[in-house]
Amino acid sequence: MTVMSHLFYQSRQPRPTLDYGKGIYLYDTDGKRYIDGSSGAMVSNIGHSNPRVLDAMKAQMDKATFGYRLHFQTEPSERLAAKTAALMPKGLDRVFFVSGGSEAVESAIKMARQYALTQGQDSRWKVISRHPSYHGSTLGALALTGYDPLTKPFAPMMREMPKIAAPTCYLDTDNLDDDQRGLKYAEMLREEIIAQGPESVLAFIMEPVGGASTGALVAPDSYYARIREICDEFGILLIYDEVMTGAGRTGKFIAAEHWGITPDIIALSKGFAAGYAPLGAMVARGDMVEAVLDAGGFLHGYTYAGNPLACAAGCAVLDEIASQDLVGNSAAMGDLLKARLTGLMDRFPFIGDVRGLGLLLAFELVSDRKTMAPLPKELNAYNRLVDLAYERGLIIYSRRTRGGLEGDHFLVAPPLIVTEAQIDEIMATLTDSLEAMAR
Ligand code: PMP
Repeated sequence: MTVMSHLFYQSRQPRPTLDYGKGIYLYDTDGKRYIDGSSGAMVSNIGHSNPRVLDAMKAQMDKATFGYRLHFQTEPSERLAAKTAALMPKGLDRVFFVSGGSEAVESAIKMARQYALTQGQDSRWKVISRHPSYHGSTLGALALTGYDPLTKPFAPMMREMPKIAAPTCYLDTDNLDDDQRGLKYAEMLREEIIAQGPESVLAFIMEPVGGASTGALVAPDSYYARIREICDEFGILLIYDEVMTGAGRTGKFIAAEHWGITPDIIALSKGFAAGYAPLGAMVARGDMVEAVLDAGGFLHGYTYAGNPLACAAGCAVLDEIASQDLVGNSAAMGDLLKARLTGLMDRFPFIGDVRGLGLLLAFELVSDRKTMAPLPKELNAYNRLVDLAYERGLIIYSRRTRGGLEGDHFLVAPPLIVTEAQIDEIMATLTDSLEAMAR
């Protein structure tokens, strides 16, 4: 019997009721155990029920759970801002707290625009983004999102923003080498800026490693450096949306470190408080923030921004990441898991691609490896494989979209605390699920 629930999210699909979590495992109220193979939505980077974080939160709860930011400074928010700034590229040393990823992206856009106004650049307002991409669900962040099923219904309510193709190199059939291919995709930004009129373009925003919309898409190295050069050439701000890739997920604290890139603004959330509290941050160049504050202040804010309980959780999460070297573990275990996933291609001809960085990994199903043609939509592979894994006690994350085409990809992104033995466990369950699907 289905009990009527007053709560709703996206669909009627019933899911088990969560009882508790410990490390990389979650348990439902029937006592069934699940491996959290996607850290929720790439959130639970340090695993569940971490004692250091719980203790820090309890201690803060006994003092104050809320202090309005315009009335009080709080010790946890100051401490977290300092810790965060110390982990960012040089010059990005001013931190603005929010409660989630969409808010971090909204804040980045509004910082960019207000900074441009201080520079007398009133004509600059367009934020170029990529397609496919995901930047959030609020209307400002949604306008930058390149994922038609989510954006189309709201199109009349949003200011349309220009998009360039995300570098879906694995689908390309030309004979370019990696380096050339990276440059080919980066040039699309230059062409779009010129087509739009450079004086109208404010910023370019990108996920350094594609997340939910593309399945851990990484561009060739040449892409990242060239994008920075192009932004500099036209005086356009570069925003890295590191909501999913930040906090060690890709084997560096932020993904920008892989290529030595310094963006002008970075958005963080998800693994930043690792699911212990709703928290995110927008980190900007100090000189930009100074200019905006000098001009009268940053016209933006959220009531819960920087609340001390969330910030106390955030501090403890960053301490745990540092003291357990979880960034190093993400890189090492990521390499191992990626090699193991790649090994599945020998066994399952319908796996067409394995990709990703650190512990942000994905595999994609195809009907033909040569043409990379997707599986027919009617097979409903992205739901079927997730359900088969679920039955066997493994949670993975799936989407049916890629490169603007239809396709099935699956993110495998366990908490950064994962051990080699636990990777064996993930692989055994995943292999069993794939075998059940192939039958
Ligand atoms: N940006 C990126 C890259 C994301 O992956 C997400 C969430 N999937 C968001 C922004 C939005 O974050 P939130 O759902 O916390 O608002």
